[in-house]
Amino acid sequence: MVNLDNKRPPLSYRGRFAPSPSGLLHFGSLVTALASYLDAKHHHGTWLVRIEDIDPPRELVGASSEILNTLEAYGLHWDEDILYQSQQSQHYQQTLQQLADKQLTYNCQCTRAQIKKLGGIYSSICRALHLPATNNATRLVNNVGIFEFNDTIQGQYIGDQSSAAEDFTLVRKDGLFAYQLAVVVDDIFQNITHVVRGCDLLEPTLRQLSFFNVLNVKAPIYSHIPLAVTQDGYKLSKQNKAPAINNKNPQPALIAALHYLGQNPPEDLIFEPVESIIKWAISHWSISKITQKKEIAI
Ligand code: GLU
Repeated sequence: MVNLDNKRPPLSYRGRFAPSPSGLLHFGSLVTALASYLDAKHHHGTWLVRIEDIDPPRELVGASSEILNTLEAYGLHWDEDILYQSQQSQHYQQTLQQLADKQLTYNCQCTRAQIKKLGGIYSSICRALHLPATNNATRLVNNVGIFEFNDTIQGQYIGDQSSAAEDFTLVRKDGLFAYQLAVVVDDIFQNITHVVRGCDLLEPTLRQLSFFNVLNVKAPIYSHIPLAVTQDGYKLSKQNKAPAINNKNPQPALIAALHYLGQNPPEDLIFEPVESIIKWAISHWSISKITQKKEIAI
């Protein structure tokens, strides 16, 4: 069970890669997986894989096992059992219960369209209504509203204050656990000390920091790498069907990912086996070589 009442003791480095199985890995997700793996291994840390399968309607059948095959083909071997969020419901419920006991959650009937009509920021209007959980969302009483943090790559990030102070959703209207709830409970559950992921999650980090604060748990250190976008500025994503990377010939994409991350691999490394490329990359890894941009067109 997650102990929410104690600050965690200092831990040795524990990182994670947390793909959603809504599609196969593309170049952008390879870059994220590689960066989090190399940062963990360079610091003699533990690297975990967590499958974020809490949204069955968006899941692609077979994607979880394909993602794991791809990671192995690219030499990214995880250190402990894979954590599947679909198996974590009990932990999410426990956290929700602890928050409810402290009156830190409430149910909300507002639809996305209604909130959009009223300016896009939720007004906390349902806090006083004491609505039932059924057919309603559950929101966090966000009295913290952290709106800035220091990212090891992006530097000081300052977000929109009213958005950061919003009472965000922990359980969706359809009853599914929300990403913010699951990601924070699992980062605590897995004792994650360092999160390396894409810049698309910079803004959500503020909510996660507020949530860690409400739970009275020390948050991990965050590093957000530039998001890989297409030449016309679209995010490479599973949703827009970015091409999956090739498991049979991993060297070219691995070398391209190292260039993307500013690591300057020697020219002839591409002819080496995957294990040698990874070995070189761990020992030469320098996070400070990653450009402080939010996007890179590839
Ligand atoms: N599951 C998220 C994704 O695939 C990543 C979540 C995270 O790293 O916190 O984009």
